[in-house]
Amino acid sequence: MCGIACYIGKKKALPVVISSLKSLEYRGYDSAGVAYVIEDKIKLIKTSGKIINLEKKLDLKKNTYLCIAHTRWATHGKANFKNAHPHTIGKITLVHNGIIENYKEIKNTLIKKGYTFLSDTDSEVAAAYIDYNYKQTNDILETLEKIKYELKGSFAFGIICSDEKDKIYALRKESPLIVGKSNDGFFIASDVPAILNYTNKYYLLDNYEIAVIEKDYVTFYNDHKVIEKNSNTFNGDNNNVNKNGYEHFMLKEINEEPEVISKTIKELKNIKSLDKYNKIDIIACGSAYHAGLVGKYLFEKYADIKVDVHIASEYRYSPIFKEKNNLAIFISQSGETADTLAALKLAKEKRIDTLSIVNVKESSIARESDEIIYTYAGIEIAVATTKAYLAQITTLSLLALKTSYEKNYISKKEYEEYLNDFNKISEEVKLLINSSYEEIAEIIYKKEDIFFIGRSIDYYLSMEGSLKLKEISYIHSEAYAAGELKHGTISLIKKNTPVISVITNKELKDKTISNNKEVISRGAFVIAITNSIIPDDSYNIKINIPDINDFVNPILTIIPMQMIGYIVAKKRNCDIDKPKNLAKSVTVE
Ligand code: GLU
Repeated sequence: MCGIACYIGKKKALPVVISSLKSLEYRGYDSAGVAYVIEDKIKLIKTSGKIINLEKKLDLKKNTYLCIAHTRWATHGKANFKNAHPHTIGKITLVHNGIIENYKEIKNTLIKKGYTFLSDTDSEVAAAYIDYNYKQTNDILETLEKIKYELKGSFAFGIICSDEKDKIYALRKESPLIVGKSNDGFFIASDVPAILNYTNKYYLLDNYEIAVIEKDYVTFYNDHKVIEKNSNTFNGDNNNVNKNGYEHFMLKEINEEPEVISKTIKELKNIKSLDKYNKIDIIACGSAYHAGLVGKYLFEKYADIKVDVHIASEYRYSPIFKEKNNLAIFISQSGETADTLAALKLAKEKRIDTLSIVNVKESSIARESDEIIYTYAGIEIAVATTKAYLAQITTLSLLALKTSYEKNYISKKEYEEYLNDFNKISEEVKLLINSSYEEIAEIIYKKEDIFFIGRSIDYYLSMEGSLKLKEISYIHSEAYAAGELKHGTISLIKKNTPVISVITNKELKDKTISNNKEVISRGAFVIAITNSIIPDDSYNIKINIPDINDFVNPILTIIPMQMIGYIVAKKRNCDIDKPKNLAKSVTVE
């Protein structure tokens, strides 16, 4: 969500920050802007819409060596030119990611003191508040030390003060920010991909830490003292931020799934069992929440552990009960999801054991949690997750399998056979990715409503399939527990309404077949995704998937749904990697 990309160093700054902003495009944004220092003046250029519009307004050859840049994902005020960042008030120019929750009170106070505001943003208020305090102290560092405890909510700032045009100040609380270091300059960025074209060395800024960055060095401060920080090295490959010949990042990332599975199995072969817990709560948002539901199915069925799965933004505002031998699992691709992070902090306050499943090393959720399991998806750029979701369900499957074995619900022989099956599925996944979904996409892409149905695990997978389709194709789509449809929603089924029916659960197969027939009787066009033999009159088109075992079948089942979502969105000419209004790393509530 939003991208901050700042540079100070020996290179011309504008091409650097523009390429960095582009590497952060996946996070989602609606306007963009830069502020740079030239001939001892601070120049501001911004635009609504895409980075390319901004680029057109810039002369990239300008002799500027210090620039702060931003892509905004509007939270306060419309997504338009006047609200785009950077914002300048008095001597302060800044870019901001996050939400200043007490901006109204501060704004009212500052208006009384004579400040006027040009935008509707909370960020401009933060700039004014820093300026106001700077006027009292004449010391920017002292000012930041003070305001960092007074501004409520979340913030990551890149700041230039017009009295010190050779420095960039960075400060953060709750919103992510890193400081990159290369041989010819320093960077501030919301995420590691932004710097990978220049360096793989970076520092993670912790909550309330301040970085003062000059051309040749960076100094970190906290509570008025200089602090030493160790740098990190990103060892993944830079390929992750390129499309490598694929038309979209989403398609590239789906094609990486076989490799993600192999890597996950290899890296997590010694995964710890969770047999000491009697109750598990899984807390997550979006696709990660759907992954949690797959975990619930497997833990309850094979390890006899009760699992409740919660949407993080609900969990954090409901009473949280600590039960005996209770574990809370937090799932987040970015490790920065604001609601999941807040929920994790609450669980810790209640002294509940916490385990996080995240994709980004050293992210906030990883650092807060008692135990961490990293997923092995690599950097994911497309806003709609595919390979990271797959890595999450593979991880949960391996956890449930190990726990089942440790609890003696399955024998050693069975355990090994199951594990062996994991090793075999990469090939099956490849075949499913390369199957043809054209005929199905052709049926769906002109429709405005579609339903997904399934029972138990098939319902949980349908929820993810439905989300994938709607988020990138903008077709209204709903996933329903197959047995629930007739309690209301079936009234929406009309002639040729597509219904994707997932049938992999043997025990419930006949029930879902009946539900298919119910919707067919009302005119629906049923596309069945199944690993069973089902009667001819219970579907219109069928996608066959292999039936291996309950631990790996979910991994296979989701692939056709990801591919259908992709192809339908492509047929509708949608901006597949950056769907409108969406952001990758949801760092605001
Ligand atoms: N809350 C700020 C705004 O609406 C920052 C949004 C962002 O993180 O991009 O301008």
